[in-house]
Formats: sequence, C-alpha cells, structure tokens
Amino acid sequence: MYDYLIVGAGLYGATFAYEAKKRGKKCLIIDRREHLGGNIYCENIEGINVHKYGAHIFHTDNKEIWDYVNQFTKFNRYTNSPIANYYGEIYNLPFNMNTFNKLWGVFTPEEAKARIEEQRRAAGIEKPQNLEEQAISLVGTDIYEKLIKGYTEKQWGRSARELPAFIIKRLPVRFTYDNNYFNDKYQGIPEGGYNKIINKMLEGIDVELNVDYFKNRSELESKARKIIFTGMIDEFYGYKFGKLEYRSLEFKNELMEKENYQGVAVMNYTDRETPYTRIIEHKHFEFGKQDKTVITKEYPAEWSPGKEPYYPVNNDKNNLIYRKYKELAEKEDKIIFGGRLADYKYYDMHQVIGSALACVKKEFK
Ligand code: FAD
Repeated sequence: MYDYLIVGAGLYGATFAYEAKKRGKKCLIIDRREHLGGNIYCENIEGINVHKYGAHIFHTDNKEIWDYVNQFTKFNRYTNSPIANYYGEIYNLPFNMNTFNKLWGVFTPEEAKARIEEQRRAAGIEKPQNLEEQAISLVGTDIYEKLIKGYTEKQWGRSARELPAFIIKRLPVRFTYDNNYFNDKYQGIPEGGYNKIINKMLEGIDVELNVDYFKNRSELESKARKIIFTGMIDEFYGYKFGKLEYRSLEFKNELMEKENYQGVAVMNYTDRETPYTRIIEHKHFEFGKQDKTVITKEYPAEWSPGKEPYYPVNNDKNNLIYRKYKELAEKEDKIIFGGRLADYKYYDMHQVIGSALACVKKEFK
C-alpha cells in the first residue's frame, strides 16, 4: 500500500513526490507519457538537449525557489534575449532602447517616449474595445504593427480586432539598452538539461510510465491512501460541466548539418504570413559546441481532445466552468489537485514548484 499515488510525473508531481519521500512517505508516480518530466522533458538529439514541449527558461525572483532547484543540478548563466524577425528586419526584445533605435533611429529615452506618446495620441483610443486597440493604446502603432499584430494573431488563430482587450494587460517597455527578457533576479538553464532535475527528484521512488489513470482508475486507487492528481480537472469529472478549452502547439524539429543556424536560441517571427511563431535553436541554451544543430518550428494550433493542451483559455466562459469543477474538488478528502492542468492555470516552472511546496506544507503540517 502506498501513501500517495501521484498522477503525472511533471514538475508538480515530482516536487510533491520528492518532498513526501523525504518525510518517509511511500509514493507511486504514474504518467501516461513514455517519459518523466511532463512538459519540461528534453530529448537528446546528437548531444543536444531538445526541449520537446517548447523552449523552457527557468527564471524567478524568489531566492528560496532558486536555491531549491539548484540543489538538484547546477544552472548555467543563460540569459533570454529573443530576437524578433519581421520580414527579415531584426529587432531586439523585449521592447527596449535597441528596438526603438532600430525602428525610429532615436537615441535617447526621451525621444523614444515622445514617439510612443505621439502615436498613442494620434490613434485617439480612449476605451480599448479589442486587443488591437489595447496594444496601440499601450505602445503606439509602429510596435503594434511590426512586433505584436502578426505574432498575436497567429498565436490565437484570429484577428486582433476580434480578440478581447484583456489578453494584453501590460506590455513590457524598457527605456534602457537592455535585451534581457526577464526582470527576475535569477535565471538559467540546468546544465545537462531539465531531465537531470526530475531524475534526481524521483530517485528511489516507484515510477510507472505509459499508464493512464483513467484506464486503470479503480485498480490504481486501491493501491494508495491518497491521490495527487495533476491531470485535467474536467477529464477527472467526466466533463460533466463541459470541456475546458486550450490553445495547442505543434512542434516540427529539423536536424541540420551545420554548426549554427540562427545565432540565438529564440527567434520570433512577427509577420502574419510565416505560419510558425518561433524558431528555437536548442544548442544555444547550453552554449553547445556540437557540429550539428537542431531547430524547432513552433506552430500554434486549435486544441481538440486528443491534442496536447498547452495554454488554458481563461475567458469568462471557461473560468465559470472551472469554478464548478473546483467546488467539487474542494469537497474531496482523498484527492489533492495541483499543477497547470488541474488548476486550469498557466504556471511558469517556478510558480508550479511554489504551488507544489505550498501543498506539501499544508499536507504535512
Ligand atoms: P505537466 O508538465 O504538464 O505534467 C503533467 C503530467 O501529467 C504530464 O506528464 C501528463 O502526461 C500527465 N498526465 C495527465 N493526465 C494523466 C493521466 N490521466 N494519467 C497519467 N498521467 C497523466 N515555464 C517557465 O518557467 N519558463 C518557460 O520558458 C516556459 N516555457 C513554456 C513553453 C511552453 C510552450 C509551455 C506550454 C509551457 C512553458 N512553461 C515555461 C511552463 C511549464 O511548462 C510548466 O510550468 C510546467 O511544466 C508545469 O508542470 P505540471 O507538473 O503542472 O504539468
């Protein structure tokens, strides 16, 4: 008999399992995929750690979480400085003085601020009614047209004028020559890839892969006193209040017989015509010196059951459905729900670890 059956070997499940084992509890962790790690899993191709489910860059402002992940492996000094490619014109991200200089030839923060203000005023938008108006009212027309419009429309599969304004609350605008994408104090990539962290966390814990909880539910439940469930909450309740919606992605990898394809790990394609949103060149995350390189083109896709659910669509309709499931979940005494799919929430890695550690604290108080 196990103390805990943990459904899902992603970062949430693995963090809980590690902490429970440390407290002398016996855990069984299962996953329906053929590998551990959930979405942070890396596939080794020609000695390059390929982020199979999209580029993952660890960043946090929280020293405790940073120390926590560093106990499993060392992190390198990778700094995310993505590039925007608009029909072959190259711009630095996030929007900063380098971007403004390239766009308008301005040199000083005052000039850049004046340009943005001038364009915002010319657009005359008082109460933004859609994403396009919201973006223009925040950063003006040039940045919107070249760096936001095409990317966002591809990401969401519809025109920016049909998208609600709330999707963009703020846009990071920086009036310094600083291409570091994140404002956080700590960031990096685990040396040797993310699998090292998960493997270390799950050392000595029973693991079963290619096992779907829903296909063996009663047998699995009989094996443990309590369950940690990190799968989809609507699936858990048989979709009785309806299906929660997601956006999905398709990843196409190419192995290339060249040492360096694009000179940067992340290049965003911000025009509307290019069908993918980004090209990731994985070796740059770890400053790889291999003769070959692997790139991944990222194509946004509609989600339908059976496809990977990546981004929750947290609009009013879905949030209302989620709240109904959550009410049921809160009444369960044998099952704890956690992680991005059970909470129907986009979490960065540091947030999912924080959420798992909060659960551990409550469970083992
Ligand atoms: P998951 O990793 O999804 O793990 C859940 C696991 O449960 C999965 O392995 C799944 O197979 C399993 N499962 C589900 N249902 C069942 C079932 N019925 N039976 C058995 N197993 C089941 N975060 C960052 O901090 N930085 C980034 O740069 C970053 N980039 C991202 C890019 C993309 C494209 C995406 C989608 C996310 C990104 N994230 C990033 C977020 C990061 O991936 C998540 O925070 C983290 O992976 C969530 O962990 P989790 O354990 O909640 O979920």
